[in-house]
Amino acid sequence: MNQARTHLKFCLELARLQHKRGRGFIFEQPQSANSWKEADVKAMCALPGVYRLVVDMCAYGLKIDRTRNLETGETGLLSKKPIAVLTNVPELAEYLNKRCDGTHKHGALLGGTAEAAARYSPQFVSAILKGIRAHMKTKGLWRGFPSRQQRHFEDWSSEVNQTGQNLG
Ligand SMILES: [Zn+2]
Repeated sequence: MNQARTHLKFCLELARLQHKRGRGFIFEQPQSANSWKEADVKAMCALPGVYRLVVDMCAYGLKIDRTRNLETGETGLLSKKPIAVLTNVPELAEYLNKRCDGTHKHGALLGGTAEAAARYSPQFVSAILKGIRAHMKTKGLWRGFPSRQQRHFEDWSSEVNQTGQNLG
């Protein structure tokens, strides 16, 4: 078994354990990854309470310098990079469920730019944090941030939502 498959199996095993014990997990791979066709991944998708969603990263502001539109040659565009997400946390499924709105052109992730795109955009991280916070509130586990961190989180997430950020 190669390293990537060993890693995949390990992540799935962790997700399965979390799910079995009533705890949350999130698992993501590029939508085009062959792993989605594997029997144990399909079995995981079919479990009750597990959501599978496709997310376009352009909807979360993924923008890598040096990417180029293949037709027009334009640079500095958003990249679509569809990923598929498995989670058993309904609030994460809700906050992460965004697709491209079709209002913009995309930059292709070629020429060494795919590596930079492997990092999450700040908007995507913010959506994950908001989903977790909403879930904890639902479960009655949310006690709030200590005030200094709360301010930091709110400043950061509103800045991210207004302006986005360039990665890469
Ligand atoms: Zn798009």
